[in-house]
Amino acid sequence: MRGSAGIGMTSQRTRERMVTRLMEQGIRDLRVLEVMRSLPRHLFVDEALATRAYEDTALPIGNGQTISQPYAVARMTEALLDGGRLAKVLEVGTGCGYQSAVLAALAGEVFSVERIGDLVRRTRERLQGLQVRNVRIRHGDGYAGWAEHGPYDGILAAAAPTQVPAALLEQLAEGGRLIVPVGERGGQQLLRISRVDGEIKQEVLETVSFVPMVHGAGQ
Ligand code: SAH
Repeated sequence: MRGSAGIGMTSQRTRERMVTRLMEQGIRDLRVLEVMRSLPRHLFVDEALATRAYEDTALPIGNGQTISQPYAVARMTEALLDGGRLAKVLEVGTGCGYQSAVLAALAGEVFSVERIGDLVRRTRERLQGLQVRNVRIRHGDGYAGWAEHGPYDGILAAAAPTQVPAALLEQLAEGGRLIVPVGERGGQQLLRISRVDGEIKQEVLETVSFVPMVHGAGQ
């Protein structure tokens, strides 16, 4: 792992502050808080931005994309878990892999789809370096999900479509939950969609701001 003992100490303290802030913001799930307390978020952003990694903000990760703010990661993970542990999770929008690594600590297997090939390569290496072994990343279009490994008891999208993608609903297992921000830039709502007794139920969790889910796989 990168960084001297000095940086390690600093980041542990700033991580503690981040977790305190998440609790103040209403995050209650102790497992989520514990994972975010121990996961070195500064290793998911460029070295030049490492000192800002624990601020409650989205930061650039290259290729015009951002790492989600800590609150968004915590809130979505909490909503996805909702009490139970998950065996199989699908993530759309791997980005730098921070959310994937959080999920990896709380789920059996994580399948993650990212449309930008450069991010796929860099994030695979990063997760390998961090010894995260239960995340598989595919370069592709997340609108199609990842049917081969479905159905999933949890699906989480880190990019916002304007409508709930049909393939994601199809790949949701009975009793499963899909957490997805839906809407145009500037006016998205975070939805929790559940499949209960074969029926689809939908609740609005809060107003959010995510990058758009873009159609098609990029380079
Ligand atoms: N989960 C990341 C957040 C990444 S931002 C984190 O922990 O910080 C959202 C990501 O979604 C970007 O990397 C973007 O390239 C990706 N994305 C956008 N549309 C997509 C699509 N259709 N399929 C797969 N990934 C997509």
